[in-house]
Amino acid sequence: MKKVHIKSYGCQMNVYDGQRMADVLGQEGYVETATPDDADLILLNTCHIRERAAHKVYTELGKLRDLKRERKAQGRETQLVVAGCVAQAEGAEIQRRQPAVDLVIGPQTYHRLPELLAQAKGGRVVDTELPPEDKFGHLPAPKPAAILARGVSAFVTVQEGCDKFCAFCVVPYTRGAEFSRPVAQVIAEVERLAQAGVQDVSLLGQNVNAYHGDGPDGRVWTLARLMRRIAEAPGIARIRYTTSHPRDMDEALIAAHRDLPQVMPFLHLPVQAGSDRILAAMNRKHTGDEYRRLIDRIREARPDIALSSDFIVGFPGESDADFEETMRLIADVRFASAYSFKYSPRPGTPAAELSGQIPSAVMDERLYRLQALVEQHRQEFNHAMVGRTVEVLLERTGRHPGQLAGKTPYMQAVQIESATHRIGDRVLVEIERAGSNSLFGRAIEQPVLAA
Ligand code: SAM
Ligand code: SF4
Repeated sequence: MKKVHIKSYGCQMNVYDGQRMADVLGQEGYVETATPDDADLILLNTCHIRERAAHKVYTELGKLRDLKRERKAQGRETQLVVAGCVAQAEGAEIQRRQPAVDLVIGPQTYHRLPELLAQAKGGRVVDTELPPEDKFGHLPAPKPAAILARGVSAFVTVQEGCDKFCAFCVVPYTRGAEFSRPVAQVIAEVERLAQAGVQDVSLLGQNVNAYHGDGPDGRVWTLARLMRRIAEAPGIARIRYTTSHPRDMDEALIAAHRDLPQVMPFLHLPVQAGSDRILAAMNRKHTGDEYRRLIDRIREARPDIALSSDFIVGFPGESDADFEETMRLIADVRFASAYSFKYSPRPGTPAAELSGQIPSAVMDERLYRLQALVEQHRQEFNHAMVGRTVEVLLERTGRHPGQLAGKTPYMQAVQIESATHRIGDRVLVEIERAGSNSLFGRAIEQPVLAA
């Protein structure tokens, strides 16, 4: 039996891609292994979004080269593959820096993995083409057992690429132009997941709310329309989508939060910064106040919605006053959670060429302050749940025996003690305590069964 070890870095779309590559390789007789030591094929599914993420890949490749040598000394061959956005961005450069790499494959050609692996046995291969065929149409569907093993929550990529060209971001270069999967293909995938026991789907895209897929009626469907159709799929109880751009939050999508009980009251809507000057320099095409007004409209439609965001501190030219605008926006919106990053200049992006790059120590200090404020709001949001009863979808066993862990509709982790409930149950839980990363509660009902 051949074994493959897949290590994914970065975003959820890479996790999804890693699963689809495992499905392709499964057809070739590979089974997944959790460690690289016993793998015949090691695949790094990489991220290029910040310099540090890209750097990690080369460190890891150095270790894997040694492992490959050790295995060879024992008479075992290992193929080493680099996939994902570093592969797309750096191509042959990867093999120049690390000759032990057998294959470099960009995100658009994963369906060709078996043929490229065979080719790489005869000599190193690089494939970062953007082929005309739709890779999704050529990737095999996962088997029910594989779906079940991945759990009751699943990712489904519905959109790839981005046409927004934010000045700091490599995505439009590594993932290419916006592409939406056809509606029928997405629905077939969601229904297959639901039949295997999935109840919670996260629709993924670099710019998912710009979704514009060909519908079965010959028209172009928006994300809101797609979600209305997915909500009809038997068994699907929870729908989420990520990541969205504020400019693409249309009325129909906001209405979906009001009208569809399956659409969860959680929205990740990156704003990046609060200063209009910096937002303009970032090419975000909205102001801080436009973002605030958008949030007001979303909260009008769904008052309990939990909001999350991404922030970049230290974009070139960001003054102390600009940064205070970001802090003011955070104080106004009060996010339930957020990701925040120090600006990282990326080769080929317009911002990397700008003057006024900010010293690292200044970025550190800003990031520290920003994260402290977001953390304060996150804790307040979580503590406000104590005493409330919420539906929790149980997703896995907890850290201690007898514990089960799941999520609230607001994406908070919850632990309960129960001998009677199982993974996949949706239970009403009274929240008794808020820890720093998890809520704790007790189930107050028998299992609520699938939708
Ligand atoms: N499409 C999404 C959006 O509209 O914001 C996010 C895409 S990106 C994969 C995730 C996050 O990484 C971004 O929201 C941004 O905050 C951060 N990011 C992207 N490029 C960056 C850079 N050069 N330096 C620091 N953070 C960056
Ligand atoms: Fe990158 Fe998102 Fe901007 Fe597209 S919208 S360029 S993915 S940050």
